[in-house]
Amino acid sequence: LASLADVDVEVPAPNRRQSRLAAHTAFVGGFANTPDTDPALPANRAWGSKVLGAVEKSPLGLDIVAAAAVNDEKQLDAVFARVLPAAKGWAALSGKGRAEILRRAADVLEETRGNLIEVMATEAGKTIAEGDVEVSEAIDFARYYAQLAEELDAVDGAKYTPSTLIVVTPPWNFPVAIPAGSTLAALASGASVIIKPAKQAQRSGAVMVDALWRAGVPRDVLALVDLKDRSLGEKMVSHPEVDRVILTGGYETAELFRSWRPELNILAETSGKNAIIVTPSADLDLAVADVVKSAFGHAGQKCSAASLVILVGSVARSERFEKQLVDSATTLRVGYPSDPTTQMGPIIEAANGKLQRGLTELEPGERWLLQPEQLDETGRLWSPGIRTGVAAGSDFHLTEFFGPVLGIMRAATLEEAIRLQNQVDYGLTAGLHSLDPDELATWLAEVQAGNLYVNRGITGAIVRRQPFGGWKRSVVGASTKAGGPNYLVHLGSWARTKATA
Ligand code: GLU
Repeated sequence: LASLADVDVEVPAPNRRQSRLAAHTAFVGGFANTPDTDPALPANRAWGSKVLGAVEKSPLGLDIVAAAAVNDEKQLDAVFARVLPAAKGWAALSGKGRAEILRRAADVLEETRGNLIEVMATEAGKTIAEGDVEVSEAIDFARYYAQLAEELDAVDGAKYTPSTLIVVTPPWNFPVAIPAGSTLAALASGASVIIKPAKQAQRSGAVMVDALWRAGVPRDVLALVDLKDRSLGEKMVSHPEVDRVILTGGYETAELFRSWRPELNILAETSGKNAIIVTPSADLDLAVADVVKSAFGHAGQKCSAASLVILVGSVARSERFEKQLVDSATTLRVGYPSDPTTQMGPIIEAANGKLQRGLTELEPGERWLLQPEQLDETGRLWSPGIRTGVAAGSDFHLTEFFGPVLGIMRAATLEEAIRLQNQVDYGLTAGLHSLDPDELATWLAEVQAGNLYVNRGITGAIVRRQPFGGWKRSVVGASTKAGGPNYLVHLGSWARTKATA
């Protein structure tokens, strides 16, 4: 099997400025977030255009995906037969030993940044800036979980036993950061991994996995599979040697896994229907910018995305916020990532079903402030949509549409706004824009979501700074946060040891 090094498009390492408060966080617990690429530096712009020049032409990851094909049960059994014996050796390494390989993985991911951005742009329609932060996140996961792996060695009064085998089933919307995060956590915890990337983003997953192999993770400890048939998914999840599944995806997928295997040990981060509340005390200019970013980043295809804004009191009665919001959303340049000026890319595949409805149909009492338009014949390129007059309990209020369409609701008071925010089945992210400390206290006491953001956008959680995970139907199984201090301890099992004198 050719390694990625053989098909690499030559991309020089960029100069990066420390743009993620890295210098500051380095003092806190010895962990520093990786800086993103600063497009203001001429060398980085030159590098960026090289990356983009390769988008849509490159064969990155294809051969790795082809080699991962699993066509029938026999081939799936062969994967288990390969991984299970190797898992013993991996589990026998100390946390420190695993951490060393994870830190090397961080370095290799950094060296592979350009290729990862390129393949994400090609497959998932991510802009270069969106791909860049995602690579930083993957690197952060590697370094942070390395640190947590070392801590596992040093827990007093308890003996930790890793899981043998963890299956990882990531989504297509963060096709590098999420598969990397789940895989690196499992590896750091001492488990071996079978990873099945999402169909729409297999090559991104493959290029990421290849980076980990090149860093020294044995191929039998980390197996990549492309299952050719749905029944193989059921067979894999139901396999008695699978200790845990880490899933990021729809709530229905988590339910499906559980129907296959009721006793399944699952850590699932599932859907979201997230709102930002804007009160009269808010800095409205900032609120508009944060709403636009949270609603239309990656064309709204994030579990964390804002798909509702709830305007309170006088903000709801005046037209200022809506006008400014429409102005701002209208200026977003929609296009494909191969164009460096693109700010909002395409959706993953032609809009159909639920998303088609969200982009084209209004419910009673609603009107378009900004009507989404299909911009080309692929069905993938849509301009952003904003509907106002969304009613409590309506389909748009309660359903996750996963695309570039935002709804505006109105509330007389903050309390009413919080009720609307909590009325959904999910509880992943939530935002408040307010400069009033009493409002903040009220909101914090009442809001039901895993990630709470104040006077900031509600997407783009940063490893260790904002551990990510949900509440209610945004989580299935163990409730723990990715990129946070307690994630690894949920992946193995613990026994009390006798206190030594
Ligand atoms: N962690 C991502 C964020 O904070 C969201 C992940 C997802 O969409 O599943 O924006």
